[in-house]
Amino acid sequence: SSGEGESYLARLNPEQRTAIETTDGSLLVLAGAGTGKTRVLTTRFAHILLTGRAKPWQILAVTFTNKAAREMRERIGFILGEPAEGLWLGTFHALCARMLRRHAEYVGLTHSFTILDTDDQLRLLKQVMEPWRIDIKRWPAPGLLGVIQRWKDRGLTPERVTDTEDSDFADGHARAIYAAYQTRLRQLNACDFGDLMLHVTEILRTRPDVLDQYHRLFRYILVDEYQDTNTVQYLWLRLLAKRSGAPSNICCVGDDDQSIYSWRGAEVENILRFEKDFPGAQIVRLERNYRSTQHILGAAAGLIAHNGERLGKTLRSGKEDARGEKVTVTGVWDSDAEARAVCDAAEKFKAQGHSLAEMAILVRAGFQTRAFEERLVQIGLPYRIVGGLRFYERAEIRDALAYMRAVHQPADDLAFERIINTPKRGVGPAALQKFHAAARAREVPLSAGTQALLTEGGVKGKMADQVRKLLDVLSTTRDILAREGHVVAVEHLLEESGYLDMWRNDRSPEAPGRLENLKELVRALADFGTLGEFLEHVALVMEHDENAGEAKLSLMTLHGAKGLEFDIVFLPGWEEGVFPSQRTLDEGGLKGLEEERRLAYVGITRARKHALIYHAGSRRIYANWQPSMPSRFLDELPEEHVARQNEGATQRRGLNLSDSVFEGGMPLTSRRRQDPLLAETTPAFQLGDHVRHPRFGVGIIIGADRHHLEVVFESGDTKRLLSSFIEKL
Ligand code: ATP
Ligand code: MG
Repeated sequence: SSGEGESYLARLNPEQRTAIETTDGSLLVLAGAGTGKTRVLTTRFAHILLTGRAKPWQILAVTFTNKAAREMRERIGFILGEPAEGLWLGTFHALCARMLRRHAEYVGLTHSFTILDTDDQLRLLKQVMEPWRIDIKRWPAPGLLGVIQRWKDRGLTPERVTDTEDSDFADGHARAIYAAYQTRLRQLNACDFGDLMLHVTEILRTRPDVLDQYHRLFRYILVDEYQDTNTVQYLWLRLLAKRSGAPSNICCVGDDDQSIYSWRGAEVENILRFEKDFPGAQIVRLERNYRSTQHILGAAAGLIAHNGERLGKTLRSGKEDARGEKVTVTGVWDSDAEARAVCDAAEKFKAQGHSLAEMAILVRAGFQTRAFEERLVQIGLPYRIVGGLRFYERAEIRDALAYMRAVHQPADDLAFERIINTPKRGVGPAALQKFHAAARAREVPLSAGTQALLTEGGVKGKMADQVRKLLDVLSTTRDILAREGHVVAVEHLLEESGYLDMWRNDRSPEAPGRLENLKELVRALADFGTLGEFLEHVALVMEHDENAGEAKLSLMTLHGAKGLEFDIVFLPGWEEGVFPSQRTLDEGGLKGLEEERRLAYVGITRARKHALIYHAGSRRIYANWQPSMPSRFLDELPEEHVARQNEGATQRRGLNLSDSVFEGGMPLTSRRRQDPLLAETTPAFQLGDHVRHPRFGVGIIIGADRHHLEVVFESGDTKRLLSSFIEKL
């Protein structure tokens, strides 16, 4: 009705109204954070329906996450006054999965095709690779899978991969293997995640009848977070939007300053191409921010101004009356103190009447959540992890805990069953049956039954050798536990069992984060006197269950926070090597650093009323503390919008910490932070390097092989040690 019509438009500013009422033709809304881009899209959706321009199913709306799709569906339902159904509203992948089911036969699948997970993909690729006799040490399957995935991100089917693209990887066979892999998938009536976009785009490219069907179906296309689309998504959109003889009714909203997914193939250039692809496109700029106070906006604007490559936008506060509080930057003594400071502040805000649901802790990397989770459990503040699992529920942490349990408690059959084939040791269901039967027959635990069967020669071959090695590692770990303590023992366990290698060899984008989580786990271990104490503590933390109805503080990564907003935002870990990340610093390029800065901009602009930044003076790397430098981003925040306070850390970059934290007394700037678990991927050590070991202190490298370094220590002792746990000075 027209009454509703007026009320939803009345709550918009003139530029936003233009963006909504310019319904036909192509439109790009290019605007900074919190200017109402998503609101414009949602209102536009409702406007199209309420003015009778299209039926609900004739609008294609793309969001970046499933959560955003749900919210948009709700908001549209609210404006319409009834639940919106039958919508083509979702993420790129969800929409493509739905389309592919309808046209699967065109790519040689049936509508009931399965979507493979990463494990299955890898297994399949390895089978496919066999005939080529590739040196898999040099070209491991996960790496090749990564290459294939990037090709898919760029819309390249095997036929479209050019000779120049197919240069070096897998001795020049990558394209041929890719083609064979796709054929094999087809035979299995399966596709992988990347195929969803690739197949549908290929169908739209080659089947004019199908394309025509969608051209007639979709009268309007709406896209949120356009700055983070990759090439295949862009091709898909362009195919659907370019209707011959009819205008392209496509509306994309985005912010080049919030482009944070280039590591997944996103191309911010898609924004720049928009006008070229859709001649006559209108560009609307929104400049009033309705989300944040002036100080928060000022701090964010000052920071992002340090990026070179920008389209340039103005951002004014729409809340003229609200200067608000300055952004606080708090230095704390160490990472434990940081967890205390953040959680105590949250508790204080709550006591002042703020709801926990309006607070969020945004971290750079998943491993950072652990310290906060433990503190929150300890002081009894309910929290939820958004877009991920709680620290101790993550697969790699559960695996590692299972390894520890198997050492600590040889009768823990569940733990042993979890690790016996993780990493893969060739133990299939039949072999596992045999081990179980052996254990039952002897009335002993599974691990003992397995040992007995191996000793008797009841199983043979490569699998038997590998399981025997696992049992040996468990037993040597128990010896080390008794002699050298739990930290060294667990380091040995995770290294020698091949578990860390499993993740090092995994080239999926999640693998480095999983290695960081494992490192954090060992760090947590050092807080406890024994392995038993630690395992008991973990059991207690995990038991803390969630109460569905109550308000909870949100804990998530900066990447996951895109598009969201909270009254109060905590931003911990602003230190060199954490944020910007060590990987970015190691790569050394400007591009990576600018993306980190955009991530910082996303973080600050999530806050409506309070943004609180923290940096710790030192962080624990395994058993010893390492000083950390405040993030360069802190220097880039304009003074007039920031209140700096110090609760025990050094305030300025480059200053050293007290000698009690770092006995060595070498100048801080000469130390480069080294990520021990990633040492394999970045060949970091050289003969003659000065290093530190958590137990033996400072030494010099005199020899090395794949995992071990030979180090002569100050004491005069020479030791052969696992390189993962040695830190370069
Ligand atoms: P981001 O770049 O972070 O995705 P955005 O540009 O999508 O932000 P929205 O989330 O749509 O911004 O809007 C930010 C906040 O401002 C929301 O709470 C929204 O309801 C509010 N808002 C948007 N436009 C107006 C307006 N005209 N009047 C009042 N509030 C508004
Ligand atoms: Mg948005």
